[in-house]
Amino acid sequence: MKDSFDREITYLRVSVTDLCNLRCRYCMPDGVCKLRHGDTLSFEEITEIVEAAAKLGVRKVRVTGGEPLVRRGCPALCRMIAAVPGIEEVDLTTNGTLLAPLAAELKAAGVTRVNISIDSLDPAKYAAITGGGRLADALDGIRAAAEAGLSPIKLNTVLIGGFNDDEIPSFVELTRAAPIELRFIELMPMGGRFGKEAYLSGDTVLARVPELQPLPDNGGVARLYRLPDGKGRVGLISPLSRHFCATCNRLRLTSEGHLKPCLHSEQEISVRGKHGDELLETLRAAIRAKPRMHGQLDAEHPSAAGRGMNTIGG
Ligand code: SAM
Ligand code: SF4
Repeated sequence: MKDSFDREITYLRVSVTDLCNLRCRYCMPDGVCKLRHGDTLSFEEITEIVEAAAKLGVRKVRVTGGEPLVRRGCPALCRMIAAVPGIEEVDLTTNGTLLAPLAAELKAAGVTRVNISIDSLDPAKYAAITGGGRLADALDGIRAAAEAGLSPIKLNTVLIGGFNDDEIPSFVELTRAAPIELRFIELMPMGGRFGKEAYLSGDTVLARVPELQPLPDNGGVARLYRLPDGKGRVGLISPLSRHFCATCNRLRLTSEGHLKPCLHSEQEISVRGKHGDELLETLRAAIRAKPRMHGQLDAEHPSAAGRGMNTIGG
């Protein structure tokens, strides 16, 4: 279905839990209050919403969180989503630290590929930014995902000035030998621990690694580049310096059943308890409610999302 600005909505991002085993300093530095049992959508409720979304033209679902893999039975949920008629792709966004033992099961459940978040290649810095996470666990997860065929693997790295900008060349170097996509994401002002001094535009990457060559636009949110002899590629996701609202094709579902027409707006529409035509009509209303673009978003103007990134799923 098209929204009011002629954008075809084909992509649903589903946050399956607010909870996470890490405490990233830009996301949920203080942890989260556990939702009461029953507040989180059940697998059946999520699947029913995906079925309705598929009837309106959604073809791709991303399972996210919080950390989706802390939710017990996540592969079973992925299997249920993948079986929905019309759904062609089920992806997962994860911090990767719990992925290694589950990668093969996720692949068998129908997951197409995974995005794994990793903000430093240095074990001490990784522990510092994630509030105690082990880099080795994330690397094990990346390896297991590759072995299981959850590919092409995309790695997400949030650019944080004064923290990991010195590692930009090392991250880019990963794409020389491996067919991965390394995506640098501009830090969004969502209420984490970093102020405007930490914001770096995506163009910083091009200044630090001038040998990167542009690739044709593939219609996604990332501007793509590659090293001259690179097997993989580098993506720049710049929600602040070059927002991509004009091609936004997505809707978001929070773990307690609110549809968010726009990541950076506090407007939410509850779908909980709705079925059949009422559920379809609520989804249509959320699609129609998508704004042309989000309000001003920069270091001085924080996101109007009204909730933490862990409750929306990125
Ligand atoms: N726990 C999973 C993970 O970390 O990949 C999935 C949820 S996490 C909220 C999804 C993505 O949002 C991650 O890549 C994370 O780095 C990114 N993210 C969280 N807060 C952010 C912020 N303030 N600015 C930019 N990206 C952010
Ligand atoms: Fe957890 Fe992902 Fe947020 Fe980090 S970015 S605290 S891994 S939800």
